[in-house]
Amino acid sequence: MSWRQRIAEEARQSYPHECCGILLGKNAPDGKFEVTEIRALPNRIQGEGRGTHFEADPLFLYQVEREIEGSGLEIVGFYHSHPDYEAVPSREDAKNMVPGLVYVIVSVTREGVTDIRSYRRYKKN
Ligand SMILES: [Zn+2]
Repeated sequence: MSWRQRIAEEARQSYPHECCGILLGKNAPDGKFEVTEIRALPNRIQGEGRGTHFEADPLFLYQVEREIEGSGLEIVGFYHSHPDYEAVPSREDAKNMVPGLVYVIVSVTREGVTDIRSYRRYKKN
């Protein structure tokens, strides 16, 4: 299963809640990237706001950073799902995008995954 398929599967299983995770792999100097592993991030938000909001646990992120230290892997970016919403960044998503990192957004409905798109913001020169 490719990493895109695995993310799609996770988005489907999390529905109607959002899923979120880290893309691990390598950034190439030409702007291309390679994803070799994905890590699901637990959503800190429990209960009602869970379908529409996601808050990653910073401690978990820190642990993953420690774990890949010296392994040659790096954090390429992040993925998350939009249950019943199109695969475009929300205003909040756009605001939180770190230049250079890849952001994959999965649109998912009751019927399954309808769209997967990648975004990356470049530094302004
Ligand atoms: Zn979003």
